Amino acid sequence: MTPQVISSIQELRCTLAPIRTSGSTIGLVPTMGALHAGHGRLIETARRENGCVVVSIFVNPIQFDRSDDYDRYPRPLSNDVGFCSRLGVDFVFAPSAEEMYPHAQRAFVEVTEVTEHLCGQFRPGHFRGVATVVLKLLNVVQPDRAYFGEKDAQQLAVIRRLVADLNVPVTIVEVATLREADGLALSSRNQHLSPEERRIAPSLSRALETARGLISAGETRAAAVKREALRVLNEQPGIRVEYLEIVGPEDMQLVEEVTGPVRVAGAIWIGQTRLIDNVLCVPVAAKT
Ligand code: AMP
Repeated sequence: MTPQVISSIQELRCTLAPIRTSGSTIGLVPTMGALHAGHGRLIETARRENGCVVVSIFVNPIQFDRSDDYDRYPRPLSNDVGFCSRLGVDFVFAPSAEEMYPHAQRAFVEVTEVTEHLCGQFRPGHFRGVATVVLKLLNVVQPDRAYFGEKDAQQLAVIRRLVADLNVPVTIVEVATLREADGLALSSRNQHLSPEERRIAPSLSRALETARGLISAGETRAAAVKREALRVLNEQPGIRVEYLEIVGPEDMQLVEEVTGPVRVAGAIWIGQTRLIDNVLCVPVAAKT
C-alpha cells in the first residue's frame, strides 16, 4: 500500500495521536531521502518491530557546513515514496524547510565531548544541526523507537547522549552498515562518483578492514594500526584523507592503546565527494 505522505507537523501529530492511543507502537526512521538499500535495512527493522512505521525525509539545512553540498544533495521524493511503499511504510513525513524552521532557529542542542573529533572536528556546527533536527523530529513524531545506521557511528553516539542526557522517552535502535560486494558502504553520496571514482572508493573500507585485521591479530598500538590503514589509502592516487582515527565506541575519544572494543573511523575525499565509514574492532583480549 502507498504510504500517506504528510508535510505538515500539525497534520502528522493529529494522524499519529489515535494510533498511539490505540496501543500501536510507532517506529521512526529519520533520513535525508535518496533512499537506498542501506536505508531499507533500517526501514525493514522498524517494520518488524512496530505497528506503525514513519520515515522522515528532510534535507536539514542547519547540518550542512557547505551550501554547495546542501544545494546538490539529491531529492528524488517520488522515487523515495515508491521505495517506502515497497517496504510497507505507513507514513512518509516530508516537511519543507519552512515547515521545520518557520522562523530563525534560536534553540539548539549541543552534545559535547562526543563531537570533539572525527566529523565534529572537520564539519563545524554539523552535529549541532543533527542533534537539533533529531530532537525536533522526536518531539513531532514521539516514536517508541528510532532507527539509526552504524554507518554514521559518531552521529549515533551523539543521539544516544542526547536521548540519555535530556531524558527523551525513546529507544534508539542501531542497524548494521550495508555494503556493496566490494565493501563500499551504501550512501546517497555514492551517486556523485564517476565510474573511475567509484572504482577507487572501496579503498576506504579496505583500509578499515586492514585496521580490524591488525587489532584482531593482537596489535594494541593505535599509532601502528593507523599507520597501516593510512598506507592503504595513500597508495591510491585520487584519494585525499580527511581523517582516520581510532576512538572509544561510546565517547568517540582518541585511543592510544587498544585494550577493549574501539571504532576505526575514516573520512576521505574523492574529487568533490566526501565519503565516511567505520568498523567496530574487538581486540583478542576483549573477545575471551
Ligand atoms: P541519511 O539519509 O544519509 O541521513 O541516512 C539516514 C540513516 O540511514 C542514518 O541513520 C544512516 O546512518 C543510515 N544509513 C545510511 N547509509 C547506510 C548503510 N549503508 N547501511 C545502514 N544504514 C545506513
